[in-house]
Amino acid sequence: MALSRTAIVEHLARVVGAENVVTDEQELQRSSVDRLHLYEDVHGVYTQPLPAAVAMARSTQHVADVLQLANTHRLNVVARTGRTATEGGLQTIVPDSIVLDGSRMDRVLRIDTYNMQATVQCGVPLQALEDQCRTHGVTTGHSPQSKPIAQMGGLVATRSIGQFSTLYGGIEDMVVGCEAVFADGTVTRIKNVPRRAVGPDIRHVVIGNEGALCYVTEVTVKLFPYLPQNDTFVGWTLKSMRTGFEALRQVMVAGYRPSVARLYDPPDGAFHFSRFAAGDDCVLLFMAEGPAGVVRATIDGIQEIVGRFPDCKPVDARHLAAWFADLNWGPDKIANERREILETRTMGRTTEISADWSSICDIYENALRRLRAEVPDLKVAGGHSSHSYVNGTNMYFIYHYDVKCPPEQEVTRYRREINRVICEETLKLGGSVVHHHGMGKARTPWVREEYGSSYYILEKLKRAFDPNDIMNKGTILPD
Ligand SMILES: Cc1cc2nc3c(=O)[nH]c(=O)nc-3n(C[C@H](O)[C@H](O)[C@H](O)COP(=O)(O)OP(=O)(O)OC[C@H]3O[C@@H](n4cnc5c(N)ncnc54)[C@H](O)[C@@H]3O)c2cc1C
Repeated sequence: MALSRTAIVEHLARVVGAENVVTDEQELQRSSVDRLHLYEDVHGVYTQPLPAAVAMARSTQHVADVLQLANTHRLNVVARTGRTATEGGLQTIVPDSIVLDGSRMDRVLRIDTYNMQATVQCGVPLQALEDQCRTHGVTTGHSPQSKPIAQMGGLVATRSIGQFSTLYGGIEDMVVGCEAVFADGTVTRIKNVPRRAVGPDIRHVVIGNEGALCYVTEVTVKLFPYLPQNDTFVGWTLKSMRTGFEALRQVMVAGYRPSVARLYDPPDGAFHFSRFAAGDDCVLLFMAEGPAGVVRATIDGIQEIVGRFPDCKPVDARHLAAWFADLNWGPDKIANERREILETRTMGRTTEISADWSSICDIYENALRRLRAEVPDLKVAGGHSSHSYVNGTNMYFIYHYDVKCPPEQEVTRYRREINRVICEETLKLGGSVVHHHGMGKARTPWVREEYGSSYYILEKLKRAFDPNDIMNKGTILPD
């Protein structure tokens, strides 16, 4: 028989201690959504089923005990750390879910500058880890825009990627080993070694699981030397995105590894570069970092390649350094954004996809053409590429629209329609519907097409590790 809400709270109090169980109504409302439902949230409108409680885990044993309880009584569990999710990963779609919050598991356990790796609990904010690392002359190399708030468990669980990814990779390239707890309470530890060839790489069952397979409790990531004195920017304005993609491609294919490689179209660039770019300018920019000789060679090589494109006009690099220094989002920007949404009733959102070099510009153009024709109340639509690889790149679509419907209809009327256009155009040309931010619940309508015949593997993983479907129902796999 299903447990009543009161009984769930009592059980939780026995498992983690009453002081670690939150049942305040307002907090439960806020815990039923993430930034996918931001418009409803700022208007104080909550339409999702409320969780029974938020359990604040303080140890791996707490996590294991809560999962065991949930598994026994078939209660949905939504894992949570920094609460910066954008795709509905934190949304509680089942009444009386348990939100299992790891933000109080916030100890940096070890910074090992000899073996160049750091071990942390899941609730350590990346900024806190990075700040400590820098005092030792090392860096994680991980710098998503949400770095001031996002925490290590969520960063691993969403397969996050940072602004220096072209050099350091995404989090999947950084995680050495980890500890994770599965639905039945089994605690597993994947050891920290530089590489091994002992069958499948099981780190990837954990990385990117979005709380749908297991709970990440501890992570070990690589470290790199921190040499900010050598950071060097170069940039150009140009009139054509197609030319920009080709210049980016040539830089990547030639083997250069700048830490930042970005291409902005005019509508997106207007939010960032109005100090030096005209209204119809695209902006192509790079940053190189690391040992001085590597930086020099990287910048020389990029300049030689981009110099082959007469459309590209150099810009003063000081503008780029100043712009980049203010790119991250902390609590102040989040608070400003909420105020602005209330005042203007305009939403600014993003959808990020990836594709090979042959397809990316066509996806970009086709999606924008359709968005402008099909989406009501659209004020701005554009995008940038911010993560490049030898075989392709991403496109980070940005769009702003005036909300002309009640708050509870905003997601379906605008966001879902925009995602539909972008995902359809991406899939048509063989790209991936999620480059970062995760699937959450927002992009599950496209998961079967995204995976194709390999959906078999995904589905079997879910059935094997979460046979009672208690782990973040409706996330990655549709409910
Ligand atoms: C302003 C802003 C900028 C952003 N910039 C970037 C960016 O540059 N790059 C990028 O990749 N993302 C970015 N994001 C998205 C977001 O920050 C990332 O997805 C981040 O990794 C989420 O971490 P979190 O600690 O906030 O996780 P949460 O928001 O708490 O959770 C995110 C997801 O992970 C699951 N989860 C959380 N903790 C655990 C755990 N311990 N074990 C298992 N599952 C867990 C949750 O159930 C949820 O599905 C941005 C978001 C915002 C708001």
